Parts: sequence; C-alpha cells; structure tokens
Amino acid sequence: MVRPSLAILLVLAHAVFGTAYRWFNWQYEVTCESDAYIAPDDEEAVAKFLHEQFVEGSHIKVVGNGHGFGNLTQCVDQTLTKKQSYIVSLTNLKELHIHKNNMTVTFGAGWDVNDLAEELKANDLSFNSLGVERVQNFVGAASTGTHGSGSSMGNIASQIIGLRVLDSQGNLRVINEKNNAEELKAFRISLGALGLITEMTIKVIPTYRVKKTTKVLNATSDYSKMYSQIAELYKEHDRMTVWGPHFDWNAETQDWDLEATYFLSYWEPTDYAGASNCTLNYCANGCGDCKKEYICYDEVIDSVSCPPQGVCNREFYAEIEHFLPIEYYAEAATNYTLFQQSQTPRMKAPYNQQMVIQHRTLKGDDTYMSPVNTYNLDPKLSGVFAIIEIDWIQEYDNFTTLWQNQELAFEFLPQFGETYNVRPHWNKMSPANATYTQEKFPKLPEFLAIQQRQDPKCQFVNEFLVSQLGIARCARYLS
Ligand SMILES: Cc1cc2nc3c(=O)[nH]c(=O)nc-3n(C[C@H](O)[C@H](O)[C@H](O)COP(=O)(O)OP(=O)(O)OC[C@H]3O[C@@H](n4cnc5c(N)ncnc54)[C@H](O)[C@@H]3O)c2cc1C
Repeated sequence: MVRPSLAILLVLAHAVFGTAYRWFNWQYEVTCESDAYIAPDDEEAVAKFLHEQFVEGSHIKVVGNGHGFGNLTQCVDQTLTKKQSYIVSLTNLKELHIHKNNMTVTFGAGWDVNDLAEELKANDLSFNSLGVERVQNFVGAASTGTHGSGSSMGNIASQIIGLRVLDSQGNLRVINEKNNAEELKAFRISLGALGLITEMTIKVIPTYRVKKTTKVLNATSDYSKMYSQIAELYKEHDRMTVWGPHFDWNAETQDWDLEATYFLSYWEPTDYAGASNCTLNYCANGCGDCKKEYICYDEVIDSVSCPPQGVCNREFYAEIEHFLPIEYYAEAATNYTLFQQSQTPRMKAPYNQQMVIQHRTLKGDDTYMSPVNTYNLDPKLSGVFAIIEIDWIQEYDNFTTLWQNQELAFEFLPQFGETYNVRPHWNKMSPANATYTQEKFPKLPEFLAIQQRQDPKCQFVNEFLVSQLGIARCARYLS
C-alpha cells in the first residue's frame, strides 16, 4: 500500500479544515499568514509536493530558521492571493556523510549550523569559515552570504562545492564544481529564489587550535583618528573583529554617550596544547565580561563562534551590515558614525539602550549575488572588504522603538552606497532598489535567467525578491 506523505496529508487537511500557519521571523516583526507549514520527510516528498503545486501555481516560501532582519522569508499572505501559499521547511532532511578521503561533508538541508559544528568537531574537522552565531540553518545561512571575519577568509557559502536543488516543477538538478562550475556561482547564494536546496557538499579542514587575544582600546570622538588606527590593525591581523565603539543612550540629554573604551579580538593558529577555555567567556553577543584583556585557547569553531548557550542578547535589534572595499574603510566608518550622530535628534522613541558599531573584514569572491562579489571592483583594489555593522539595541522588546531605528537604518545605504561601493547583507537591512542591485551585482541578469528556468511561474518570489532584484516578469506574481 502506498502511504501518503505528511506533506500531502497537510495539504488535504487544509482543503478540508481550512487550516492556516502564521510565520514569524526570530524577532516577530516579519510575519505572514500561509495556508500551511509543510515539512516533507525526504527529497522525494519535496519533489512530489512541488510537482503537485506547480499545476496550481501555489506560492511557496522555503525557510531556514528565520534569523533575518528583513522580508526575505516572508510568504505571500493568504489575504493577497486566491492561490494556496505555503511555508516549506526542509528540517527533516538530516542525512550526513563525512568523506575524510577528500575532506568534504555532504548533508541534508535540515542541518542547523550548531549541530553541524558539533558533528564536525566530533570528527576532528572544522569549517573554513563560520559566522559569529550558530543559530541558523546551514542552507539558510549560506543562501544569504553569512560570514565571520578574516581578510583571507570567504563567507560560509564559499565553502560549497556542490548541491542538489529542486525547481518549481520538482525536477532535480545536481550542481557542482566539476560539472557546472559557472552555475554553482549562482546557487551558492540563491536567496531562496532558485529552488529548494535539499543537500549541500562543503569543503572542510582538519580542526586546529587557535589563540584568541582580546584587547581593550581607548575610544575617542576623533573618529577619523580612531578608525585609521583600526584600519592599521587590520593590516597586522588577518582574522580580527572590533567590537565598538559603544554608545549608551542618555535619557536626560537625549543623546548617545561614547563609552571610554571598546575592545577587539584577533585569532591566530597555535600549537599550545593546554586547557581549552574560550567558551568560558563568550562575549560574542554581549555575554560575559567582554571589556577586559585576556588570552584564551580553543578548537577553532569554539573560539570564533558562539553556541546558543552563549547568546544572551535577545532584545529587538535594528541592524545594518554593509560591505565595502577595505581601502575606503576608515573614511566610510567615520562618515557612518557622523551621519548617525546627525540623526540622533529624531530618535524620540523611549527605549533606546545601546548602540554598538562593529568592524570585520572578508575576502571577495565570484558568487553572483555575494555582497563581496568582485565583479564591479576597480582592479587596483585588493579585493578585501571591510564590514561595518551598527546595532541599535533596546531596553526591552518595544515595536515603536524598533521601527524608529529600522527607519533610520534604511537611510545609510542611500547616504553612502554610491560613494563607497556598498553592498548590504541580504538578510539584514535591504538594498535600496533594483537599479542599485544591478549596479552592485553585475551578474544579476545571469542570476535572473536561471531564476526564470527554475521558477517559470514565479511561485518562489515574494515582494522582497521582486522589488530588490527587479524581476520584471514576476511583477504580477499575485494575480
Ligand atoms: C542574532 C543573529 C545573529 C547573526 N549573526 C550573523 C553573523 O555573525 N554573520 C552574518 O553574516 N550574519 C549573521 N546573521 C544573519 C543570518 O546569518 C542570516 O540572516 C541567515 O540567512 C539566517 O539563516 P536562517 O537559517 O535563519 O535562514 P532564513 O532567514 O530562514 O532564510 C534565509 C534565506 O535562505 C533561504 N533558504 C532557506 N532554506 C533554504 C533551502 N533549503 N533551499 C533554498 N533556499 C533556502 C530562504 O528562502 C531565505 O531566502 C545573524 C542574524 C541574527 C538574527
């Protein structure tokens, strides 16, 4: 007897009972009402579901863990369409194969970064690169270009050497370095627009120990001087993150007070064989005793990234993260800080607490939609990018303050984008418009040609994708 899959049962249940599923991102400000949440058991069930929904032209939004600050994962709301609209999670695809002979790992789309990190560690392996937190689903993180810090290190998508993806008709395509290397450049960061990725293969490396050094630095309101000094430090340290300057909200003066000190951490390989102790003081997310000088040693994953138990900062954030050629860094960081200060008088909402500016670096790459793609870079530049992040942190989860700060966050790109060749993180604050995207991502036409092949009926798009990528043929995706 053929057993109907869970996905099919859910669709039938919806037809009979009119069920609905409300999707939220991690901080509940991105939401939509779908007809159902579908979590198929395996790749075959995903393909079957897609094949059936293609006939109907249903809207389908594949999601990871919803750890984004923008509308990338928003489904088509039920109220906007007569078609069915589904949230699809591939969380049940949990196969894993470690190939130590060629140092690769192949895994299903259900693996979260933290679980995969633990699995690699247990096998004396490590990622080439990793973000600061591990809360994401791996495919979800890779699909937006999630990254850590390192001038000779790529984002986490750069480790992908192959993947399996289903198009909107449920057809499987196997993409890899050997057979379709050029297409892989489109699929490494696909923003959920090119189909449902069911499996990935990444390059891994033998694990190694690193020494993490944290230093406290004095802040100064001479920002040009401070950021020029930081730029010099990036020449000394390949893998470094600067946490600061920090500003505290002063309710009396209605202004941001610059904290006297900030700190940075840098990482370097070591042969030290003593105790592993970096996880005793995470500091990756504001946890622990961060502003102090210390040295710790650990396995690389545990030294550069933070497991869920090390994440303590869960207020509503507004956040921007902008990538720009490192040569422009000191001037850009100065002007970002001055622009923020010029906007402070409009920050009237009551629950501001702290503002942190962070600085990282990343090696450029050739992935079509990578924020550090080098396609429009002046050849005289190094191909290394600086990353400027600003976090606006609140006293508590207050929507008014969040929206106020997000409105401000959106203004940095129009202000500085053209001047410094800035590209925003896809899942933080979004790019300004399709014209800007085309300029900063010269391979966008090639990406959209593949998108047309993979999704001819525009079932995978949402407002974010249509407007930010300028997918003209999908402009009427709601009709
Ligand atoms: C607290 C916090 C900390 C963060 N830290 C960092 C950091 O250190 N560095 C950094 O660069 N970013 C960071 N980010 C951003 C985060 O890494 C990205 O937003 C990431 O994309 C989120 O992953 P997710 O699994 O939650 O994916 P989601 O937000 O759910 O999805 C992201 C994209 O992937 C697509 N997708 C998901 N699964 C599939 C699939 N199977 N097939 C095809 N497409 C798929 C979705 O459609 C969507 O377009 C952070 C975000 C938060 C909220």
